[in-house]
Amino acid sequence: MTNNKYELTKQWLEKHTFLKDIGEMNLSIIQILEKIEIEPLQLPDLDLYKETFGKGIPVLQNEELQKALVNPVEQVLLTLTKVLSETQVPAAFQKSCKAVQFYAENNSIAEILGYVLRQETNQVHTFCEKNSLDEKFTNFSIWLSISHVISQNALPIKLWVEGKGWERNYCPVCGSLPVLAQLKQANDGHQRHLICGSCHSSWTYKRIGCAYCGNEELNQLRLYETAAEPDMRIDVCEDCHTYIKTYIKEGQEAIYLADWATLHLDLLAEKEGFSKKGSSLLIN
Ligand SMILES: [Zn+2]
Ligand SMILES: [Zn+2]
Repeated sequence: MTNNKYELTKQWLEKHTFLKDIGEMNLSIIQILEKIEIEPLQLPDLDLYKETFGKGIPVLQNEELQKALVNPVEQVLLTLTKVLSETQVPAAFQKSCKAVQFYAENNSIAEILGYVLRQETNQVHTFCEKNSLDEKFTNFSIWLSISHVISQNALPIKLWVEGKGWERNYCPVCGSLPVLAQLKQANDGHQRHLICGSCHSSWTYKRIGCAYCGNEELNQLRLYETAAEPDMRIDVCEDCHTYIKTYIKEGQEAIYLADWATLHLDLLAEKEGFSKKGSSLLIN
């Protein structure tokens, strides 16, 4: 699967040369993460969270789980920043990368990980300033590490979350907003899945309506389709002026659910006056 992701990304870049810089960085990241082995995650009994989850509290907002993530995330972050800073990357990026690496080598990441997971943006800002860390890169690299740990160890969390009827517009695992959507075949037509911009989990959501403000007025919801990317469309909401890219097929998730791979569609939507939400990309 990972090789497949690497190969698919390479083929995509051959056809989308304007994505070369960001694409090559992502190819490096795919290769680095592929080699990182993670210690098994010691999960507490997830049923302890049944009640709070039912009230809309995402799984990773629980303190015990945040604690359980510290070591595995730190492990990934250390290798990721070390190897990434040794690859051919722009000087500014390398500097940010080395700063996070240096911090993680000399301190526990428990404090900053907690701020990031709880989305305490003011705290993240102050912390980064105090420790001379680039805020965007810190968020980016920590989420990438969390997402890698989750993708390797998330099965129990995924299974636990599934079928619990989470129909909210934020991620049931971490609480972030979605950055992309996908329409998948279901028994009664199509079902919409939202994809988290931070931990990359996905969950089902109502098919009609804005994924951000919930607006269901059909005359305020529009679809943009482009000849260049027929497998993806842009759903816009004229009430809150946001958009979400939606992959309308299945099988090429490695590309279409990687936000950066369709940045040209973001440019189109932004040109029309709509803004992006839920993104953890460095360049937004
Ligand atoms: Zn998430
Ligand atoms: Zn809206």
